[in-house]
Amino acid sequence: MLVVMEEGATEAQTEAVIDRLVEMGFTVHRSTGVRHTVLGGVGPQDDFDPAVLEVLDGVKECHRIVSAYKLASRHFKPAGTIIKIRDVEIGGPAIVTMAGPCSVESDQQIEACAEFVAKGGARVIRGGAFKPRSSPYSFQGLGEHGLQIMRRAADRHNLLVVSEVMDQVQIPLLVEYSDILQVGARNMQNFNLLRELGKIRKPVLLKRGIAATIEELLLSAEYIMSGGNYEVMVCERGIRTFETATRNTMDISAIPVLKRLTHLPVIADPSHGTGKRDCVLPMARAAIAAGADGLLVEVHPDPDRAASDGAQTLRPDQYQEMMRETARVAEAVGRRPA
Ligand code: PEP
Ligand code: MN
Repeated sequence: MLVVMEEGATEAQTEAVIDRLVEMGFTVHRSTGVRHTVLGGVGPQDDFDPAVLEVLDGVKECHRIVSAYKLASRHFKPAGTIIKIRDVEIGGPAIVTMAGPCSVESDQQIEACAEFVAKGGARVIRGGAFKPRSSPYSFQGLGEHGLQIMRRAADRHNLLVVSEVMDQVQIPLLVEYSDILQVGARNMQNFNLLRELGKIRKPVLLKRGIAATIEELLLSAEYIMSGGNYEVMVCERGIRTFETATRNTMDISAIPVLKRLTHLPVIADPSHGTGKRDCVLPMARAAIAAGADGLLVEVHPDPDRAASDGAQTLRPDQYQEMMRETARVAEAVGRRPA
């Protein structure tokens, strides 16, 4: 249930509507827009007459939300969500690039990354300390030590940190060391993890599962938001199809579809999206042209010696070129680099 309050509705009127919704069995989430306050009532029953709410003082209109997800729906927040972390705004006019290695490997590696990543214009450094590897024999990440050295390198270069959380027990560590918690493709439907992330108050970057529909991605975002953590961004990172020429098939069309369906910022990952270094720049350009709010890209000072995902990882010179090129595309579509 969606209740839009009149412009100028008083706090007492809004409170009275909230009380009525709670009486009816709804959990109420409030979104304060520039003009209107919108109340999202989430509850089991959707089979009553919205007119009973429409007659309450201060109510402008009332609708049933027909989509399976409610809080993630653009109806709930037509203007779009801007996630502000220090001086970085994700989901606003500026395109935010998050770049860094697939895995944090060493002090020297992460420091070298932070230096050229910051120089090229990215505002966030990425890097996995806990790695979800297809094989148990592959490098599994440096754990807490990896987070510590990435945090220090990020702070030296005025960058934010995004890093993956694979399990509920890792949440406190990620909250301590990173600014954005990444949920990987393999965990998109780990509902216990998503519920726990609903309880924290730090932004979450939620990646699309390799076989997930757009609706399933938004339902996973809804899990986090229904716990009260509204700072979620969704990420297209390629899906599995019959095509074998690329690691995954990057679904560029998901970007405009997501922008229409949800108010959440949309990030694109052309590294995992294609698995191929030479495809990253063209797909980064395409993603910005299609309306993405940001990029998540793998870079490394020496990708051919990277501990993971070297084949899709950009060299520093390729990263600088990508930053220049995407800035031009951003400008062409009325955006700008952050
Ligand atoms: C990553 O970004 O490091 C990663 C493991 O990506 P994904 O979950 O999309 O495979
Ligand atoms: Mn990777």
